[in-house]
Amino acid sequence: MPLSKKNIEIDIVWFKKDLRTLDNKSLEFVSNSGNPTLFIYIFEPSVIDSPDCDPRHLRFIFESLLDIQKKLRKFSLDLNFINCEALKFFQEISNKYKIKNVLSYEEIGNNLTYKRDKSILKFFQSRSINWIQNKTNGIIRGLRSRKNWKKKWLEEMKSEILITDFEFINKQKVNIPSSIKSFNFIDTFDKNFQPGGETYAWMYIRSFLKSRHVGYSKNISRPSESRISCSRLSPYITYGNLSSKQIYQFFSRSSKNRDIRNFLSRLQWRCHFMQKFDDQPDMEFNNINSAYDSIRNKYDKNLLLKWRKGETGIPIIDACMRCLDQTGYLNFRMRAMIVSFAAFNLWQDWKNFSHHLAKKFLDYEPGIHYSQIQMQSAVTGINTVRIYNPVKNSLELDPSGEFIKKWVLELKSIPVEYIHEPWKMTKIEQEMYNFSIGDNYPLPIVDIEISRKEALEKIWRIKKSSKSKTIAKNILKKHVNK
Ligand SMILES: Cc1cc2nc3c(=O)[nH]c(=O)nc-3n(C[C@H](O)[C@H](O)[C@H](O)COP(=O)(O)OP(=O)(O)OC[C@H]3O[C@@H](n4cnc5c(N)ncnc54)[C@H](O)[C@@H]3O)c2cc1C
Repeated sequence: MPLSKKNIEIDIVWFKKDLRTLDNKSLEFVSNSGNPTLFIYIFEPSVIDSPDCDPRHLRFIFESLLDIQKKLRKFSLDLNFINCEALKFFQEISNKYKIKNVLSYEEIGNNLTYKRDKSILKFFQSRSINWIQNKTNGIIRGLRSRKNWKKKWLEEMKSEILITDFEFINKQKVNIPSSIKSFNFIDTFDKNFQPGGETYAWMYIRSFLKSRHVGYSKNISRPSESRISCSRLSPYITYGNLSSKQIYQFFSRSSKNRDIRNFLSRLQWRCHFMQKFDDQPDMEFNNINSAYDSIRNKYDKNLLLKWRKGETGIPIIDACMRCLDQTGYLNFRMRAMIVSFAAFNLWQDWKNFSHHLAKKFLDYEPGIHYSQIQMQSAVTGINTVRIYNPVKNSLELDPSGEFIKKWVLELKSIPVEYIHEPWKMTKIEQEMYNFSIGDNYPLPIVDIEISRKEALEKIWRIKKSSKSKTIAKNILKKHVNK
């Protein structure tokens, strides 16, 4: 009797944020299982429509998938780009084939993907489908205590890197049900953004070790120089073009070098923040410390619109917002400064601008994003309150105004002594440079000094309160690594 498809046992490799062919436990598994295998990435309409998703993320994912597909095709295997909700996909495919194992990596995502995974797990359990979810970058699901966390993280970083032999993967074709749509990305490659994929990730990592790391520590906060001297690995880590383990081992022999050491310590911070988010996922919606819940209650849409468009009248802020919009990247200090400006100088609640930034950061990673935005808005009660003075930062980190001139073209002809504070030009000077403040470029939408003092007072009033201190103690107990 011929075998019906329903009797054929298959495995499914469900790529999520592990978009690589090297050091991938899912691929290693199917090279050993011998089962016919379906390789998929699911572009879910609900995720695409969510307020933190942007076409730039989809493009990066799509480019990464094309890179994987190229490699799979060399071995007569294929990757399918699915376009429907994950649950629907698994329901339909399980009507057609007997699914034995689904392989993926644990996703430290937002509430939407977390809830999705819970419903998928329930479905798999109802059909006796074995879902093997591998650990992501040393993050431990359901962790009760941070005791020995660093030790365990290091053990994971030092463990063996997998190199799968694709020849061993069963090549029998597994067909997608005809009711399932495939995803086609219409947006094209954009040279202003880092391109996605394992191949590019390795170009970035190699060039960083070869030469770009020189000056890493010196240039890390400078808006122009950091674009070269920083590793620029963040989107490749976010989408798993590289695993943290691969990066750790690639650089470990050079860890005597101070710049490399500084870089590697940040790789660990990354995982620390991800762990923190996995332990307390409600920080996507709520202040980590509820003592700060009602301090910023006046939402000013208009002020935030000017901030978003880079029309605040503060050149370094405007340059950052426009640069981020057009390239998807800013270094750490500039990210912290634009958040500080919105949260302190404009006194706006982070919940009203976090999605905008999530969309704009090409490397958007909820675990780092929400922790950082809350820290920079000073609503955790455990971190030092830092209000970045944009003019001081501009003078120190972009002294020649190179970065400002590149992104705020209205200020291109302004002499360097006024580029950081064009509102200080006299009428005669404005005429000399054929420039009129308020017409060619806006006056500042807020007084930096006054708003800073007011914000500090308000924040410290809460920080000193017994409510904030008690909650802060519990936060430290929960999240500090031992
Ligand atoms: C408000 C705000 C939001 C942020 N959102 C994100 C985000 O969504 N995704 C993201 O990857 N980073 C985020 N960061 C952290 C940091 O700004 C970026 O990781 C860094 O700028 C990326 O550039 P790079 O790869 O050249 O970093 P490098 O300096 O070369 O650092 C190497 C790697 O270490 C990690 N890293 C560096 N700095 C930090 C940090 N402070 N905290 C945690 N991990 C770090 C990143 O994975 C980075 O790729 C955010 C920072 C702030 C202030």
